[in-house]
Amino acid sequence: MSSPTIPQECDVTVIGGGPTGSTAANKLASRGYQVVLIDKAAHPRNTVGESLIPHFWRYTDELGVTEDIVSEGFLSKGGGLSYWGSELRRLRFRDFGHERPPLHVERDIFDDILLRKAGAGGAQVFQGVQVTTIDDLEGPITTVNYRDADGQPGCLKTRYVLDCSGQAAVVANQLKMRVFDEGLRFSAFWGYYRKSKYLTFDGDVRNDEEKFEHPPATLMSTVGGWGWSWHIMLRKCVSVGVIIPRERLSELRGNSPEDREELFRRHVSNIELTGRLLDEDDFIPGSLRNLRNYAYKPAALTVGNCYLAGDAAAFVDPINSIGVVLAMFSGSIAAHAISRSLEKPSEAQLNRELYSHQFGNRVALFRLLALPNGHDHLSQEELDRAKEAISASSDAELQLMALQATNNLRDDVLNDIFDGLGISKRPKIESVDWPALPL
Ligand SMILES: Cc1cc2nc3c(=O)[nH]c(=O)nc-3n(C[C@H](O)[C@H](O)[C@H](O)COP(=O)(O)OP(=O)(O)OC[C@H]3O[C@@H](n4cnc5c(N)ncnc54)[C@H](O)[C@@H]3O)c2cc1C
Repeated sequence: MSSPTIPQECDVTVIGGGPTGSTAANKLASRGYQVVLIDKAAHPRNTVGESLIPHFWRYTDELGVTEDIVSEGFLSKGGGLSYWGSELRRLRFRDFGHERPPLHVERDIFDDILLRKAGAGGAQVFQGVQVTTIDDLEGPITTVNYRDADGQPGCLKTRYVLDCSGQAAVVANQLKMRVFDEGLRFSAFWGYYRKSKYLTFDGDVRNDEEKFEHPPATLMSTVGGWGWSWHIMLRKCVSVGVIIPRERLSELRGNSPEDREELFRRHVSNIELTGRLLDEDDFIPGSLRNLRNYAYKPAALTVGNCYLAGDAAAFVDPINSIGVVLAMFSGSIAAHAISRSLEKPSEAQLNRELYSHQFGNRVALFRLLALPNGHDHLSQEELDRAKEAISASSDAELQLMALQATNNLRDDVLNDIFDGLGISKRPKIESVDWPALPL
C-alpha cells in the first residue's frame, strides 16, 4: 500500500506530534479546519519526561482521550519527595484539591495515544517527515518545506504554522532567536534501570514488584549545590536522571559511550538515598542520554502567522515536572488563538498578543519556580509577568506552588512576591522520617 500523500495546502500546519502538537491539532481539527501535522519521528518514539502532575487530566478531558489514558494502566505516583541534604520533604497533590492521581508514564506510549486521537479527530498526520525550512513566515500564506519519508523534498502552503517541534525548535533556530538561559545553565544525563527499590509518600521502602499496589513517589535528591537527580518508577523499568550545572559537566563526560555509562552508574550510586535504592548492575546498557544547556527563553512567541508552542518556544528546568502540562496548555491556547484568527482575520494581531501574554506569563512563573538564586536572574519584566500569573491562580494552586518551591529550596523570590501581594498563608512543610535503608 502506498503512503498517503501530503496535501499541497491546508489551513494550519503543525510541526511535531508531541503533547503540544497533538493537543493543538486535535482542537483545530475538531473545529473543522484542515490540519496537517508533520513529525520527523515515527511514533511511538522515545522521549524523557515521565512524571506527570495531575493538571494534565483537564486537557485529556477536553481532548476526549481520558478513557484511553486510564485504560492504558499507567503507574500512579504517590506524591513527590525532595531531599536537599538536611531533611526529606513531601508533597501530595490530593492535599491541594486534585482528585485524580499524578502518573508515571512511558512517554512513547502516552504521546502516541494523544497523537492517534488527533488523527482520529480529523488531523492529517504524517510521520517520518522532516520539516527543513519555512518561507514567507510574515506573509499571508507561508510555505513549509519538508523531506518526506523517502527523502524526497516537498512543500506545503498554509495559512498558519504552529511550531511544536520541541527542543529542535525549528522556527526559533531558523530565525536565530533562541536565547539560552544563563540562570539555568544545566545539562541533563539520564538512563534506565531494570528495577529498583522505591520510596512511598510515607517514606516506606518497597520492592519493585510492590509498585502497582503501593504507589511510588517521585524522588528528587540533591547531587551537591544546585544539581539534582530524579528517580521515577515505571511499569517495566526505572528512569533515573542527573541534572548538573555546566561547570561540573566533566564529572560525567567520558571518552566513549561505555565510559560515559560507567561514570553515570557510579555517579548515581553515590547519590544519597537514590544510590541506595538502585543496584548498579540493573542499569540497561545503551539507555544513557544527554542534553546540554537545555534551557532557553523565547525572544518572541509568534512571528507573522506562525505560533511557537511547548518546548519549541521555551524550556525551563524540569524540577517541577511541568513540561507536559505547559505543552498541553500552550498547544491548547495557540489552537484557540489561531481558530479565532481564521474566523475573524481582522483580530489576528489581537489574538497573537493575547497568546504571547498568556503563555509568556506562565513561562515566567515556571522559570521563577525553577531558578536557583532567582533574584540574580529575573528582569523586572519577568517578575511582573510572574506576578500576573500568580494573581490569576487559585488559592490551592498558590499553596501547591509555594510548597514545591520551598521543598526544592527555590522559594526566595516567590516569598517576596507573596509578601508584596499580601498573601500571608503559607503551606505546611511536611518531613518524612529518614527511611530505613540498608547501607
Ligand atoms: C531531562 C528532562 C526531563 C524532563 N522531565 C519531565 C517530567 O518529569 N515531567 C514533565 O511533564 N516534563 C518533563 N520534561 C519536559 C517534557 O518532556 C517536555 O516539556 C515535553 O515533551 C514538550 O512537549 P512538546 O510537544 O513541546 O515537544 P516534544 O515532546 O519534544 O515533541 C516534539 C516533536 O517534534 C518532532 N520534530 C522535531 N523536529 C522536527 C522537524 N524538523 N520536523 C518535524 N517534526 C519535528 C519530534 O520528532 C517530536 O516528536 C523533561 C524534559 C527534559 C529534557
